[in-house]
Amino acid sequence: MKTKVIFEDFVSLFFPRLCIHCDAPLPRGVKDICLQCQYNLPKIENFKESVPQYREKFDGIFPVEAVFVYGHFVKGGIMQSVLHELKYNHNPEIGIQMGRWFGKNLADAGWKNAFDVIIPVPLHPKKLKKRGYNQALALAQGLHQGLEINVLENALHRVSNTSSQTHKKKLTRMLEMQGMFELNDNVKLNQLNILLVDDVLTTGSTLLACAEQLQKGEPKSISIAALAGA
Ligand SMILES: [Zn+2]
Repeated sequence: MKTKVIFEDFVSLFFPRLCIHCDAPLPRGVKDICLQCQYNLPKIENFKESVPQYREKFDGIFPVEAVFVYGHFVKGGIMQSVLHELKYNHNPEIGIQMGRWFGKNLADAGWKNAFDVIIPVPLHPKKLKKRGYNQALALAQGLHQGLEINVLENALHRVSNTSSQTHKKKLTRMLEMQGMFELNDNVKLNQLNILLVDDVLTTGSTLLACAEQLQKGEPKSISIAALAGA
């Protein structure tokens, strides 16, 4: 046995690592989510085409190519624990892990050559400083590992910081989000098939505001991937 492994076993005797959702002790080699919770993730596994219920959010508003969501958000469910861990518990690793699984699912469904570049939704610099990382970028890095498609980190920047998002009406939120993002200078998206990535897809207004800006770079297509959908 290697010293590192012995040390980790020793530490875990006193500080067992626990599942982020059910608090079950994690066996060695399993990170963050126990096998039972992994099995119970409310995943959408068949990505042969867009997920209709999420794609509909953009119908008649913006010409997105495809919309993918890894799992459904249920209050008190595993996906809520995952999002909480990703956003508030300083754990970008779980985002990379989820992105990798998501990317593998998409690759298995034949989407490997459908995109040229992965673009994460940017965070406002203030929020980035507070959180220490952009959770959408963590997901994008995982998707990169699963799909083997490059990430373009700095295509967009966030112009202003929004307040609370969740309890606003869809239209209010959409109008509010417009102009929240800008395409950076010298970003060339000509004829590229873009996969735009965020952690959550609810009203779609954040992703829509980003897609509208990306459109200015004249890409060939814009598709969307979100970790959780509601
Ligand atoms: Zn668990």
